[in-house]
Amino acid sequence: MRFDAAIVGGGAAGSILAWKLAEKGWKVAVLERKKEAGGKVCGGLVSHRVIRFSGTEAIMNEIRGARVFFPGGKEVTIGGERIYAYVIDRDAFDREMVEKAMAAGAVYHTGFRVERIADRKIEGKEAIEFDYLIGADGASSMVASLHNMGEIEYINAIQGHSKDGNKEEYVSVYFDNTISPGFFSWVIPDGEKARIGLGSVERNVRKKLNMLEKKIGREVREAKGAIIPAGLRKLYVGNVALIGDAAGQVKATSGGGLYAICVAASSLADSFPDFSDYKKRFMKEFGGEIKRTLMARKIFLKLKNEDMDHIAEYVESETKMISRYGDIDYQSEVAKRFFVKHPLATLMILMKRFFI
Ligand SMILES: Cc1cc2nc3c(=O)[nH]c(=O)nc-3n(C[C@H](O)[C@H](O)[C@H](O)COP(=O)(O)OP(=O)(O)OC[C@H]3O[C@@H](n4cnc5c(N)ncnc54)[C@H](O)[C@@H]3O)c2cc1C
Repeated sequence: MRFDAAIVGGGAAGSILAWKLAEKGWKVAVLERKKEAGGKVCGGLVSHRVIRFSGTEAIMNEIRGARVFFPGGKEVTIGGERIYAYVIDRDAFDREMVEKAMAAGAVYHTGFRVERIADRKIEGKEAIEFDYLIGADGASSMVASLHNMGEIEYINAIQGHSKDGNKEEYVSVYFDNTISPGFFSWVIPDGEKARIGLGSVERNVRKKLNMLEKKIGREVREAKGAIIPAGLRKLYVGNVALIGDAAGQVKATSGGGLYAICVAASSLADSFPDFSDYKKRFMKEFGGEIKRTLMARKIFLKLKNEDMDHIAEYVESETKMISRYGDIDYQSEVAKRFFVKHPLATLMILMKRFFI
């Protein structure tokens, strides 16, 4: 069969895009290697923008703030006055997006692992012909590799759950380079369980998780590994475009990708089949923010535990500002205000780590 667009990958990115394209009347096929939606390792922490855009009913908990723990033991609480984020049931969310895409007319081929693509045709258990190809096939995208769309870095991650602390309205964030080098650890209460995980530039994440369990005094069950992309790939080459983790449309500071997917799906569906316009729209709306998180990550990677403890003093003095301007989708606003208020401290840390 021939389609206007063949989307490889029926995760959040593939399904949200399929929904938006099919709604506009395009003939869309989604090819997904898994038999059914779900199973993604994810914190499921999203903003009101994701809830509104997706229309999801999979909300499990509301988050009113964060407890931030620094390596030396200092704890700083941020927020408290409003809802900053929602915790969603990620499996239910992915299923909802598939249902919306199918209801709009997208055709799903599940249990279909795409291995060969040539001459506008995907060979598999069925031949799928297409005019445009979209890679929504996750961080280690085969569509991206096949079309030389750029090499990016990955953050190794692991997440499981525990029964304690599940009803809280605060997430906990732990900075400590011995446990989560180059990233952080988290506890996200979803109302039924607490999702506990960490990211690391090192590969031995299971060992790191054992260290986290000891530190926070909780046993983590059913932990699964995953990768988070850090870096933007080419958004398109000829008649091939990328979206979601495949494109690296993720905030490099937090690993959050669901809001970027909403922006990208809306940009791509509005532009289709003009991929250069897709790139323009996405970069204008969210590309700058992703680039700022990549820059912040470069700096963060240089910090030692002692630097983080030093920064903790300033963070403690700025909880009002952070609570006021904190936004999980647009994190650079708080960083900008922080740098403006503490230019000397910022400069000294940067000098120390980049030039000495
Ligand atoms: C530990 C962790 C915690 C996270 N926490 C958050 C969070 O709290 N908030 C947030 O916003 N984001 C979070 N994210 C990021 C978010 O989960 C991702 O950005 C998002 O799921 C990416 O969706 P995707 O559809 O692009 O990729 P994926 O969800 O990886 O989907 C890709 C799909 O493509 C399929 N596929 C791959 N190759 C092929 C092939 N050859 N043929 C057919 N099908 C194929 C896969 O089976 C999969 O279904 C987290 C990520 C991780 C790893």
